[in-house]
Amino acid sequence: MQFLFVVYLRLTNVQAFFYGSNMKISNADVNRLADKFGTPLYVYDENKLADNMAAYINNFQSQNFKTEVLYASKAFSCVEMVKLVKNCGLSLDVVSGGELYVAQKAGFDMSKVYFHGNNKSAQEIDYALSVGVGTIIIDNFQELQLIDKLAKEKNAVVKVLFRLNIGVDAHTHKYISTTLFESKFGMMPNGREFKDCLVFITNTKNIVFDGLHCHIGSQVFETNAYKLAIDKMVAVLKQFDKPLTLNIGGGFGVRYTSEDKPVPIAEMCKTLTDYTEQALANNRLKINKLLIEPGRSIVGEAGSTVYTIGFTKKIPTKTFYFVDGGMTDNIRPALYQAKYDCDVVDKGNEKTQKVTVAGKCCESGDLLVEDILLQEAQSGDRLIVYTTGAYGYSMSSNYNKATTPAVVFVKDGKAREVVRRQSYADLVSNDVDGDYYEFL
Ligand SMILES: *Cc1c(COP(=O)(O)O)cnc(C)c1O
Repeated sequence: MQFLFVVYLRLTNVQAFFYGSNMKISNADVNRLADKFGTPLYVYDENKLADNMAAYINNFQSQNFKTEVLYASKAFSCVEMVKLVKNCGLSLDVVSGGELYVAQKAGFDMSKVYFHGNNKSAQEIDYALSVGVGTIIIDNFQELQLIDKLAKEKNAVVKVLFRLNIGVDAHTHKYISTTLFESKFGMMPNGREFKDCLVFITNTKNIVFDGLHCHIGSQVFETNAYKLAIDKMVAVLKQFDKPLTLNIGGGFGVRYTSEDKPVPIAEMCKTLTDYTEQALANNRLKINKLLIEPGRSIVGEAGSTVYTIGFTKKIPTKTFYFVDGGMTDNIRPALYQAKYDCDVVDKGNEKTQKVTVAGKCCESGDLLVEDILLQEAQSGDRLIVYTTGAYGYSMSSNYNKATTPAVVFVKDGKAREVVRRQSYADLVSNDVDGDYYEFL
């Protein structure tokens, strides 16, 4: 008989439990998943993914205007994920021809695809127009001119939103309203470039001006930063006489460690719709539709990475647990000093060892979690890092010729592979012994 006591492993993120001594994700045994699919392994709780999307759809609602939730697919994109997004009724953000291709392979309704990016190539724009992408978010005047030229050639009509740089910088726990406008993204609301765009669209039949977009940053906890962004966007909307679409971006924070206190999805949605309604009323303004584009907050906490511990090493100042992955499957600690929480799988709750979890790459900076209290571990034990669902797999690399891990979706005790592990053969599949051609 199984032990009956259940201990919450984490407080806010109900993704893994101890049942007796076995750790489970959506009731599937983590160690058995690792045995079957190998490590490192990205494990997503499929119910959690669907619940997060349902929370957005059900709570991002207004009586005063239409609403739409876009999943920012750069956070985690594969065919099965995009199919799930489709089934949950969200629209999709893509930022490259590659992400658009995944959407196409998943059979996503192209009219519900939004194409972002500050430097889309002619080939990518052509591709988007050919498959009937619904909306392109314009970053700059040159892009607008290029899209118009390509749309004319194809006799295509495409909706556009203009991305504005409103000087709200919320890339950290604190937000700042700057007057520097240093970001590479978007156009200044009072600048020449945006004015040129507005004049240009009055003289073309191939582009339909649908509204404005902003995105203030990522891993944002401060609702006040979004309120400030809404105020600034509403102020810009005042100059237009028809009700437009307003897209206020994504970036809603998630819980990586106990220091992170994210606003629950439902509450964030309600705050944003309420505040927008109020800001519009105060300005006697109407919009047609309000959009948000969450990425991380849909997939982040739904995903974990399971590793196998190899060697452990003690030096005078530190103890290392070496795992069979690292910066190749999770670049965020090396890239932004991102913090994570982790556990040794099935070793109970007694954390007596202060350790640093390090990867296997030839970089001193290849550390996944530094100076964390963990259970005592031996070679062969599994280690799980939580909240790796966003920007983990999507930022993975083949550095040191690491093969990218498999991705599994787990649901009610069952698991299915949605991305297979790369093989060594995959690593050389693009290597060719090309002929010399003259380029004189
Ligand atoms: C990255 C990005 C998002 C999503 O950000 P998250 O932090 O993953 O929610 C949304 N919109 C734009 C324009 C982005 O670049």
